[in-house]
Amino acid sequence: MQFTKKPNQRQEQMRLERERLERTPTLASAFPSLKSLSVVVGHFESQRGTPSGELRYRANIQHAKAVLTFSCPASGCRGGGFDLTEILRTAVRGKRKTVQGEIACGGTRSNALKHETACPHLLRYKLNLSYV
Ligand SMILES: [Zn+2]
Repeated sequence: MQFTKKPNQRQEQMRLERERLERTPTLASAFPSLKSLSVVVGHFESQRGTPSGELRYRANIQHAKAVLTFSCPASGCRGGGFDLTEILRTAVRGKRKTVQGEIACGGTRSNALKHETACPHLLRYKLNLSYV
């Protein structure tokens, strides 16, 4: 069997990603009971770190997709990122009004000695939800 490498693999990946997003329902259709959602996330370099950035986000329930992902800001981080989609789903199912916590980046990066190490970035999050 022969494997030929597609020359436009990256484009193909982006196309698949776009299609996946298009198929993703909006918050309103995925979570009919959800009335509003606001999100505050802060990035931390490590456990002891001070926030290197904070993002406040108020979702447009009618138009925003029912995915809640944030990319890792660490330079050189590979395969990292933060996915709050499951946390949001669980929160809505339980009709929680506030959910907060922190998750670690699942990515890796090379240190000065070119060793692969786990990316130490953390995302601290707070979701505020209200229901119809
Ligand atoms: Zn990372």
